[in-house]
Amino acid sequence: MTANALNTSRSKEIFRAAQEIMPGGVSSPVRAFKSVGGQPIVFDRVKGSYAWDVDGNRYIDYVGSWGPAICGHTHPEVIAALHETLEKGTSFGAPCELENNLAKMVIDAVPSVEMVRFVNSGTEACMAVLRLMRAFTGREKVIKFEGCYHGHADMFLVKAGSGVATLGLPDSPGVPRSTTANTLTAPYNDLEAVKELFAENPDAISGVILEPVVGNAGFITPEPGFLEGLRELTKENGALLVFDEVMTGFRISYGGAQARFGVTPDLTTMGKVIGGGLPVGAYGGIAEIMEMVAPAGPMYQAGTLSGNPLAMTAGIKTLELLKQEGAYERLETTTKRLISGILQAAEEAGLQITGSSIGGMFGFYLCEGPVRNFEEAKSTDTEKFGKLHRAMLERGVYLAPSAFEAGFTSLAHSDVDIDATLEAFRESFTAIS
Ligand SMILES: *Cc1c(COP(=O)(O)O)cnc(C)c1O
Repeated sequence: MTANALNTSRSKEIFRAAQEIMPGGVSSPVRAFKSVGGQPIVFDRVKGSYAWDVDGNRYIDYVGSWGPAICGHTHPEVIAALHETLEKGTSFGAPCELENNLAKMVIDAVPSVEMVRFVNSGTEACMAVLRLMRAFTGREKVIKFEGCYHGHADMFLVKAGSGVATLGLPDSPGVPRSTTANTLTAPYNDLEAVKELFAENPDAISGVILEPVVGNAGFITPEPGFLEGLRELTKENGALLVFDEVMTGFRISYGGAQARFGVTPDLTTMGKVIGGGLPVGAYGGIAEIMEMVAPAGPMYQAGTLSGNPLAMTAGIKTLELLKQEGAYERLETTTKRLISGILQAAEEAGLQITGSSIGGMFGFYLCEGPVRNFEEAKSTDTEKFGKLHRAMLERGVYLAPSAFEAGFTSLAHSDVDIDATLEAFRESFTAIS
């Protein structure tokens, strides 16, 4: 694979028109190429590990729709199941049995979850879980970590990671101070800071929410004892522990980070993979807390399209495929091979790099390691990353257009794909070093 002068004229044309009719030309800011330079590639279709743009260029895709495409794009079994459901209707606005089926799968898979509520996005799941934390504890404050993203609800838009960091916005205008006054932040992997916050705010903190593995500030893993320590601290202080597994759920193991690390939170949010490419979010936890949600209890939360048959079908089929023998071993092996190849290629080109992977998720920073929190992540060379991103595109590899995003592999990424990707990395690292 050699660099060709990428023809993206149709992409440019479409994006130019898009910018006049939609803010920034995109429906979600992370899709823009602001931090890497150049213009976004407009996709035409996706299949397996590949994406094709409107100019006919093919890319090996490591974004996977930001996580959902874990079985590979447009998996034939998911598509077939969707066709079948489609004939019966796209949305009922009434109970449907498919909700039971997906709920049971989630409850069986995720250790902390005894009951689940479906919503339409990860943002919605996090908004609802926050209300539930406050409703259950009767306390208003929440602790989050710098660089963790929990959707775009007001109270979470404080030090909220990649999307916001990439654009260089400190927070966001329009978020009331009175709202974020109840949001306390600590550096990731820093138990002492959390301890201090609890001491300074006695009986006021409803809980601690975090990405158990951070994918919205690059890729940061919890240090040994961090998750366990948070479990103890929350218990001691009568507060809840909430894992935002919108990204890690069904991605770093079938039961998410809590299964992988053996630490059980009180509440969990999910999204991305459980929708199999359709809009689904969910929150769940022990029955005692979940029974507070309307109409079982007084905490109100609703959704017109929530639990619709189409979305449930994509989720169920995707989880069925993931449950098959050896799926996560394969995902893990593929991803390990990829990240170790990337690290080696960078070092051979004389570049500083640090990186790692878990399950089907990986990340690297162009700086000296280790990276344990967002502050350290910021040492990554974003200018070099921009050049790398461009060089990889020219060699047919689509990486997330930000130095602060995790990468995603799928069951469709073959050895041939990984070999081609690593060759592209070797050439690109040499070109930018
Ligand atoms: C993507 C993500 C969200 C938000 O989910 P949306 O479906 O984009 O609203 C929340 N938390 C985490 C950890 C995420 O990765």
